[in-house]
Amino acid sequence: MAALTELKKKSTEITAISQVLSLMQWDQEVIMPGRAAADRASQFAVLSGLVHRLLVAPELGDILRVLQGKKLSVASRALVRVITRERDQHVKQPEEFVCEFARLTSQAQTIWQRARQRDDFALFLPYLEKIVTMSRQRTEYLGYETEPYDALLDLHEEGLRTVDVDRLFAELAPHLITMLQNLTAHAPLLPAVTWTFDRNAQIAFAEKLLATIGYDFHRGRQDPSAHPFSTSIGHDDRRVTNRYHPNSLEFIFSALHEGGHALYEQGIARRFANTHLDNGVSLGIHESQSRLWENIIGRGKPFWEYLYPELQEAFPAQFSNTALADFLTTINAVRPGPIRVEADEVSYNLHILIRFELEKGLLSGAIQARDLPALWREKYENYLGITGQTDADGVLQDIHWAHGSFGYFPTYTIGNLAAAQFWSALRRDNPDCRQALAVGDFGRLRQWLASRIYQHGAVYQPAELIRQVTGEELSSRYFLRYLDRKYIDAVPCSS
Ligand code: MG
Repeated sequence: MAALTELKKKSTEITAISQVLSLMQWDQEVIMPGRAAADRASQFAVLSGLVHRLLVAPELGDILRVLQGKKLSVASRALVRVITRERDQHVKQPEEFVCEFARLTSQAQTIWQRARQRDDFALFLPYLEKIVTMSRQRTEYLGYETEPYDALLDLHEEGLRTVDVDRLFAELAPHLITMLQNLTAHAPLLPAVTWTFDRNAQIAFAEKLLATIGYDFHRGRQDPSAHPFSTSIGHDDRRVTNRYHPNSLEFIFSALHEGGHALYEQGIARRFANTHLDNGVSLGIHESQSRLWENIIGRGKPFWEYLYPELQEAFPAQFSNTALADFLTTINAVRPGPIRVEADEVSYNLHILIRFELEKGLLSGAIQARDLPALWREKYENYLGITGQTDADGVLQDIHWAHGSFGYFPTYTIGNLAAAQFWSALRRDNPDCRQALAVGDFGRLRQWLASRIYQHGAVYQPAELIRQVTGEELSSRYFLRYLDRKYIDAVPCSS
């Protein structure tokens, strides 16, 4: 079919430019000289403009229209769906608006960094106010039924609505708050840990972890960066980064987290290579794959039954006299704190709930940006019992708002819930997976994930994929049951 061939050609063109943008972003965060920032910003603007113009071109609209009513394969229908969706988002927003928003959020990120360093919310406020105003404008361009916030949620998680997130948090929050109070009241005091880890040994161990879980270094690489991330630069180029603090075990969990994202993308079927289907389907599904390896598998006893001797060998001074049980207690400690990215598995979603409530208020106009620091403290005290937060460690801690990414945070919770639900399905199909993990046989787990999730790329919409893999809609039940078993019944996870 001529139109389908044309569509695939367009998809490959647009994908190639997006991949070059990813390469530029990777370069900026990994090796770019500092003075090159302005050059890079203009290169981004030019290439982003090019992607925008290719997407809004009437010619592409014509091809999509021809294909709309045609009888197509599942994958071709998905390609039409994904490109139509991306094109619609661009067509609805005027080019000047897109450029102005990009310029504003690029400036705001620099200001946010300074404001955070100086603990100075007032410095960031005028930018945040503009970003909120433009985001409200953006919801009008994009369109919504009743709730403006829906338009932004859908940008990050296709089909997700505010009412869905409201429902999930209504199920989660009371349970999490009670659990947190009980666990912190009865938590044994852990000995103060003052481990120090050699940087090169950290890099080598992170690499070993990635290889162990099945990350293919012929189709990727690991480099240091200020914030760990994973990115796709081509079908055979799925990179991860990590960071190495001398006194933190973060390198282990970041390797597993970013490795989980990268395994997903390395597992996408080759027939979708370098098209719009050659990506994880949504942020939430992506995050389910990273959290699965980071937390459910990577903080579990079976995983460390296999790997702890390796860790002891890599860091004998730190671990040769530490029992596995103590190591597991340390990496699973529940302690509410002010910082989201350091949160344990019980607190984590409450950090997201707070941001979700504030974002909804900002977008509906019920909350003004200037009131955020006070509201932030109030909610942290109510939900997590945290007091005395600075703005730097409070309302200024995340980059997302400077980025203009309202509607992004809830996808982290979707990811946590979906991870537990997928895990339950995986264990149903592989009743002996605990034993497999304990002997380092990760191949079978990965094959299950690849055949159910990875290989499909962006073919199935997130909700549809969850239904297909687990037989149900996304539910908070599996995540809550996972937490109950792990922390209340004290059965090490994965058992
Ligand atoms: Mg992630």
